[in-house]
Amino acid sequence: MRHEGDSRPELDLELLRAYAETFISRWDTYPVQNPKDGTYFRAKDFTTDTIQPLSLAIVERHLRGQGITIGAYLLDTDSQAKSIVFDADDAEHWASVQHMADQLEQEGVPSYREQSRRGGHLWLFFDRMPGADARRFGNFLRNRYELDGVELYPKQDRLTEMNSVGSLVRLPLGLHRHPELPTPQRFVFVDRENVPLAPSVREQMAILTNPQKVPRRFVKAILKRAPEAKPHFSTPQFDKKKFSKNMPPDKKIKAAVSVHDFVSQFVELTPTGRGYCPFHEDHRMSFSTPPNANYWHCFAGCTGQTVIDFFIRWKGYQSLDLDREQWGEVLKELLGMLHL
Ligand SMILES: [Zn+2]
Repeated sequence: MRHEGDSRPELDLELLRAYAETFISRWDTYPVQNPKDGTYFRAKDFTTDTIQPLSLAIVERHLRGQGITIGAYLLDTDSQAKSIVFDADDAEHWASVQHMADQLEQEGVPSYREQSRRGGHLWLFFDRMPGADARRFGNFLRNRYELDGVELYPKQDRLTEMNSVGSLVRLPLGLHRHPELPTPQRFVFVDRENVPLAPSVREQMAILTNPQKVPRRFVKAILKRAPEAKPHFSTPQFDKKKFSKNMPPDKKIKAAVSVHDFVSQFVELTPTGRGYCPFHEDHRMSFSTPPNANYWHCFAGCTGQTVIDFFIRWKGYQSLDLDREQWGEVLKELLGMLHL
């Protein structure tokens, strides 16, 4: 269905509202696609420079393809999510995502496949839960099915002052406006054979107004096994003999927790301490932090070995050589996390 032929579906208010309920997580602001480059900007009244709220009328124009394409933020204003999306940017990655969808289906876990320009989006719906848990859940699946290179939305655990909306995806069933598409194109939900779930936009909407959710017990079981998004360290007692309150902060941190215990709060590790390296595109569990040793190592060459090195990299610094101020901040954060 790669045409605009369905631009005038019959959309009654109830259907619109129910459809929006599935995908829209907030109404106080919304993103609009810029046809020139396919990116999104927040809708604004440019004369008064104020953020515009979303309305059902705008959702309807989006679905009818009437001059506007909007996105949907994944997190609501309380940083809760009711869906996650795996975004595959090419055919190869989409095949891996579809494979996961097939496997999940066999476990009784439903998901929805949406076509996109080069690959596809896989949607999973569940009862509203904290964004951090939704991401833990999604990242666990991404690791389990080795979906390196596939993006997971939302991309934030929670909203912050700096980022008050978080990531978005195109609101499904509108027209995708992108300079590389000859004309705006409507992408739809398909089954595993790539056949549209229903012939018309209206019927597609009807299916998505009441999507099947991931069973609660499945979410629960995964969250039990997935590493905590926000580390919680109990009273640190790694090396009592070496630990003293008057030590310099970096020594104190290293004496308070073993590298293995610390890292296991961030990376899913096998019993022998192997895992996917969080610092490079890792397909072969190059990361190692043996439980009985006190270092970490990446066989692909990501350098560092202490708790502090790990945390510096985890924070996204490209080099371990921080300036004084950055170093001070990292140590301060670690002392706080470890209750020191
Ligand atoms: Zn690495």
